[in-house]
Amino acid sequence: MSPTSFRAMVVEETPDKVFVRRIQEKKIHDLPEGDVLIKVHYSSLNYKDALSAAGNKGVTRRYPHTPGIDASGTVVESRDPAFEQGDEVLVTGYDLGMNTPGGFGQFIRVPSEWVVPLPSNLSLKTSMIYGTAGFTAGLSLNKLIEAGVAPDDGDVLVTGASGGVGSMAVALLSHCGYSVVAVSGKPQAAEMLTALGARQVLGREAVTDTTGKPLLIQRWAACVDTVGGNVLSYVLRSTHRHGVVTCCGNVASADLNITVYPFILRGISLMGIDSATTEMPLRSKIWNNFAGPWQLTNLNRFSSTIALENLDEHIARILAGGQMGRRVVQMT
Ligand code: NDP
Repeated sequence: MSPTSFRAMVVEETPDKVFVRRIQEKKIHDLPEGDVLIKVHYSSLNYKDALSAAGNKGVTRRYPHTPGIDASGTVVESRDPAFEQGDEVLVTGYDLGMNTPGGFGQFIRVPSEWVVPLPSNLSLKTSMIYGTAGFTAGLSLNKLIEAGVAPDDGDVLVTGASGGVGSMAVALLSHCGYSVVAVSGKPQAAEMLTALGARQVLGREAVTDTTGKPLLIQRWAACVDTVGGNVLSYVLRSTHRHGVVTCCGNVASADLNITVYPFILRGISLMGIDSATTEMPLRSKIWNNFAGPWQLTNLNRFSSTIALENLDEHIARILAGGQMGRRVVQMT
């Protein structure tokens, strides 16, 4: 018999618009309608979780709320015959942790269309080391491969490299044979990034352009940008003719100040990544790649496990741009 209550992080908005986080008991019958009830074993911390936990209404409209855009665990009940009690599964994205109670609770209930069977070869914990960050890095790598970027085309730049998506991108690209140049604002991250396979680590000043020129010297065969703003503007202007740039994040800024010249004079392709709404066939392909050809053996070098009770300090750190690598949240 499944329990009737469970522990979860709950973010509440006070009358004076302050957001407070507490670990509370919640009732399973208060979870939203859905086909599959999942006992969460692991979640992970992403930038979006921190925004939700801090009261960002662009991510979460209604409070009280339990964040956590990632969860892996076992099926407790399913109305969909595709899943049976005891199946190991994972959920990332869709509305999980945004306006649907997320993986920072010990149980979630979600539509069966959101549920990915855990690939054999991948443990529940490992799947959350990848989590949304790894999945997003995997989607970015997939875009480069589909666009024809080959390892011998030249350097691939990764920005925000010490963060969750960035560190995963460095590790995956390097695993697949690409020559990776990592950009990080943290000098102390250089050792980790080199261990993950970066050929070179640059400071942010190396990707800061003060000339305002519409085109810069061509340096990169491709780029996985995770920060947006002026960095993405620099990248688009300094990528090789017919190069490819992926864009997933906005930690630097959501604004993009750029002319059309990189596109019309150099044929640069700017490819958007939206991991949350990725269709199931591509979703399954990426997860199966993590269990197969893209399987990383150095995950412990840039990940650590934390308890639900210790999430607060890590939320503050990721909001301040101080995250290095991945934090897995142990929920059992
Ligand atoms: P993290 O906080 O883990 O990493 C972001 C990194 O960006 C930081 O560690 C830092 O790395 C760098 N950074 C922070 N602030 C600045 C700044 N002002 N200027 C330049 N660089 C900065 O976040 P995630 O990796 O989880 O997410 C990265 C971005 O991608 C976020 O905007 C997130 O919302 C987005 N995202 C989007 C997804 C999608 O599907 N579109 C999915 C997942 C994430 P360093 O110090 O090494 O430079």
